[in-house]
Amino acid sequence: MAVFVLDKQKQPLMPCSEKRARLLLQRGHAVVHKRYPLTLRLKDRIGGDTQPLRLGIDPGSKVTGLALMRESDGEQRHVLCLFELAHRGFQIRKALQQRAAFRRRRRSANLRYRAPRFNNRTKPKGWLAPSLQHRVDTVMAWVVRLRKLAPITALDQELVRFDTQKLENPEISGIEYQQGTLLGYEVREYLLEKWGRECAYCGDTETPLEIEHVVPRSRGGSNRVSNLTLSCHDCNTEKNRQSLADFFAASTGLRRRLKANGHTADARLDRVQRQLKQPLRDASAVNATRWALFNVLKATGLPVTVASGGRTKYNRQRLGIPKTHALDAACVGAFDTLNDWQVPTLTIKAMGRGSYQRTRLSKFGFPRGYLMRQKQVKGFQTGDMVKAIVPTGKKAGTHTGRVAVRKTGSFNIQTEQGAVQGISYKYCTVIQRGDGYGYHLTPTIHLIGGAEQAVA
Ligand SMILES: [Zn+2]
Repeated sequence: MAVFVLDKQKQPLMPCSEKRARLLLQRGHAVVHKRYPLTLRLKDRIGGDTQPLRLGIDPGSKVTGLALMRESDGEQRHVLCLFELAHRGFQIRKALQQRAAFRRRRRSANLRYRAPRFNNRTKPKGWLAPSLQHRVDTVMAWVVRLRKLAPITALDQELVRFDTQKLENPEISGIEYQQGTLLGYEVREYLLEKWGRECAYCGDTETPLEIEHVVPRSRGGSNRVSNLTLSCHDCNTEKNRQSLADFFAASTGLRRRLKANGHTADARLDRVQRQLKQPLRDASAVNATRWALFNVLKATGLPVTVASGGRTKYNRQRLGIPKTHALDAACVGAFDTLNDWQVPTLTIKAMGRGSYQRTRLSKFGFPRGYLMRQKQVKGFQTGDMVKAIVPTGKKAGTHTGRVAVRKTGSFNIQTEQGAVQGISYKYCTVIQRGDGYGYHLTPTIHLIGGAEQAVA
C-alpha cells in the first residue's frame, strides 16, 4: 500500500512506495504525520510535481469501498491504496429505536389517556433516516480527508445497478444480449433486479441463475428483455422448448422444487405472467442514499463520473479481479486495464465517539450503572490508538491497537491479533488520537461471501 506524503506546509504530494517511505524516514528527510492511513511529512520540501489521481467509490449498505488510483494515458489505472469503510447504520438505528421505546414507556406509564397526535411534523425535502445519512456523511468525511493527503483530481462513483440509458427502454427495444459484453452485464443486472435475484420459476436463490427465454426461440420468442427472465439450471433445461403453461403443468421436477421452497404452482405461474408484463421502474434500481452521496460529491467541485454496477461487474470479470468492496471501487467506470491491484486493504470501521448518555440502562430501561463524568483516564481516551510495551509478566511484549480505558488505569487493547486485557496505562503511549474510527490492515483479500485469498 502506498504511503501518503505531505510537503513542509502540509500540502499533498504524490504518494510513495513503502520502501521509499522507509528510506525517507531513515535518512531523516521526513517525519510520521499520521499513522492511519500512514502519512509522512517532508521536512524541507515545499511543493512538487503531482499527477492526476482518481478516487473510485462503491457505496454499499454495510461497507463502502474506496480505491485511490493513478491514471496513465487515460485508460490505464494503477491502484495505490484500497480502503473499506465499514458503516454503523445498524447500531445507529438500534440506539434510536431503543431511545424511542424508553421515551414511550416513560410518557405513557403514568398517563391513562392522551389524545392522538399525528401528522404534525414535517421532514425537509431530501431527508434521510439518520442511519442512512450517516453513510453519506462518513463517505464524504473520508473523501475530504483523503483530499488532504493526496492530490485527488477526479471521483468515480457507482450510482445505479444498471444503466437504463444503455438498455434504451429495455422492455420494448430489441436487444441482442450477449454474455460477457458490457450490454450483457447491464441486461443481467436489470433482470436480477426485476426478478428479485431468484429463479423466476421455482424460487431458488442459492444457485447460479441463467438467462432464459420465456417464449422459446424455437417458438418465435424474441431476444427482447421483455421475453427474458432468470432461472436455475434445472428449470432452464427442463423447460427447454415448452411454453410457460405446459412447463408448469407437466414438470415434476419443478413441482418438487416449488414445494421445497414453499410455493404453489398456480400462484407462481400467475406471478411470472404478471411480472413479465411489468417493466421495472427506474426508481427501484437506484437508491436514495447513493443519490444523496452523488450530490454532496458534486459539491466538492471535483469532476464526478458516475457508472453502473453492471459496468463494474463487467470490468471485474473481464480482468479476472476478485470481488471485494475495495476492488469493486477500483473497477467503477470506464477504463482499459487495472494494474498493481494486489495491495493490502485498510479497513476503516466507524466506531462512534462513545455515548453522551452517562447512565447505562437494563433492557427494561432502568438504570443499571453509571459511566464516569470524564471520558479521559490518565491522558488516554477510549478510541485512541496506543502502543504498549510491557516489560515483564504474562503479557510481556508490544501491543499496538485501539484502547478502551477504565478508571483504574488498567486498559484493554484491541490489537490485530485480538483483545489484550489489563494493560497498565504506564506502559502505553498514544500513537494517534481517537477520531471515531477503528483501523485494521488486512494483508489478505476478503472475498465477498467469506472466502479469503492471499495477496501475492
Ligand atoms: Zn428453478
